[in-house]
Amino acid sequence: MPLIDTHTHIYLSGFDADIAAVLDRAYRNGIDKIFLPAIDSETHDRLLTLSLTPDDGRQTTDKRPSIYPMMGVHPCSIKENYKEELDIAWRYLNNGTRYYAVGEIGLDFYWDVTYRQQQFEAFDTQIAWAIEKGLPIVVHSRKSTYECIEVLKKHKGKINGIFHCFSGSLEEAKEIIKLGFCLGIGGVATYKNSGLREVLPQIGLSNIVFETDAPYLTPVPHRGKRNEPAHIKLVCEEVAKIMRLGYAEVAETTTQNALLKVFNIT
Ligand SMILES: [Zn+2]
Ligand SMILES: [Zn+2]
Repeated sequence: MPLIDTHTHIYLSGFDADIAAVLDRAYRNGIDKIFLPAIDSETHDRLLTLSLTPDDGRQTTDKRPSIYPMMGVHPCSIKENYKEELDIAWRYLNNGTRYYAVGEIGLDFYWDVTYRQQQFEAFDTQIAWAIEKGLPIVVHSRKSTYECIEVLKKHKGKINGIFHCFSGSLEEAKEIIKLGFCLGIGGVATYKNSGLREVLPQIGLSNIVFETDAPYLTPVPHRGKRNEPAHIKLVCEEVAKIMRLGYAEVAETTTQNALLKVFNIT
């Protein structure tokens, strides 16, 4: 059963030198679909250049993963020019490309809270886009899990997606799942001090999807080096161990969750 990296930034310049090898390693490790969350206008074109979906008429015999684009403005890119950034993302969303989610969007109060209010506004605006276009959203939260949940509650039943890089409590996990979202699990699950090791067995597999967030959050034993989609295999192995389940079952269920519960691809 193939694996999916639901969240990876391999369009960033740190992959320029060896992107073909990165994609080859992903494919050889069983990752056959990759989803690219957007950041801001600095990188939207790079993201689209790398995207390659079966919709583009690609030969399915190609030995490389399909690469699916998302569009949105990351909360860390919500600054004084945020209205312009939103306008640009909206134009991309309407440029005829098929996007698979609005993302990544959300709230980040870790680095900077100067534009806290504008982050809320941009989050709301982009959720409205997703509802209008019938797309899922990919939510980024940092030091803002509670606030993100509160925002999503306002749209309960109208929106679904992924709460990416989830690392909250069991109670938060349950709330997010009740709102119709999957939890994005990645390299953090392999860290010894991660609370996920206790939370995961209690929430089960049915609302879990895998992600690398490459180049960040590299799993053990490669921690400290650049992350890449091939490492999804390590995440799957670790989650299987934590949950005391077989690798094949974890791979199959998380892949089906991503395809059917989130991205609507059959
Ligand atoms: Zn993120
Ligand atoms: Zn990300």
